[in-house]
Amino acid sequence: MNMVKRLSGAILFLLAVPVFVWRHGEITYATLCYVAFTIGWLVIRERLTRGQTLKTVTANVDGLEKATLFATAIGMMLLPVIALYTPLLDFALYTPTMAAFVAGTVATALGAYVFFRAHADLGAYWSPTLEIRDGHQLITSGIYSRVRHPMYTAIFLICIGQALLLENWLAGIAGLIAFTALYVLRVGREEKLMIEQFGETYQAYAARTPRLIPSLRTRS
Ligand code: SAH
Repeated sequence: MNMVKRLSGAILFLLAVPVFVWRHGEITYATLCYVAFTIGWLVIRERLTRGQTLKTVTANVDGLEKATLFATAIGMMLLPVIALYTPLLDFALYTPTMAAFVAGTVATALGAYVFFRAHADLGAYWSPTLEIRDGHQLITSGIYSRVRHPMYTAIFLICIGQALLLENWLAGIAGLIAFTALYVLRVGREEKLMIEQFGETYQAYAARTPRLIPSLRTRS
């Protein structure tokens, strides 16, 4: 089911290119970049989570969690698709400056890289909602030795890229707003779950590792 969802998402973004050209007579580099990166991260997630078989032991999914996930899907997927395919959000079209294009490309490329690394390091313990899997181990190595929530760092970077590259300010900023809400409501609960599961080991890990932004000081 998830595979079908992600791949149809990737195809939807791919087909958005000819539709956009048909509607506007051209496509800009910024929009093309945005579309290419979106397909990229959907494919990364699909490849690196395929065949995940560990059973879920504890699931911590309530109405609030579902609502914020839903809002993020609207902000990061539905509104951009509506903006690319239909004239409904054309009132919010704008042309990004060269600086916005460059910053957006850098943010998205960095986000895609961190996203890939985080998925590779977290492996089968990844879940879209808060869960403890069968035989769940605490990962503190690889990119998890730099920050505790690299996947959230990556999604923030991708959302900043969306805001700067998608040439529609409304659909552009929607992902960032929705994901910020999801992050704020989730991160404390996720860490509480990790402490319940891994106790002092997680507390020690949290004491030496920043949440989202790696420290520039070299680690001892
Ligand atoms: N917050 C992390 C992981 C997101 S996926 C990140 O941004 O990279 C969410 C799931 O990852 C949660 O259900 C939790 O069980 C698991 N998780 C979070 N941090 C983890 C860690 N350091 N080791 C193992 N699992 C972790």
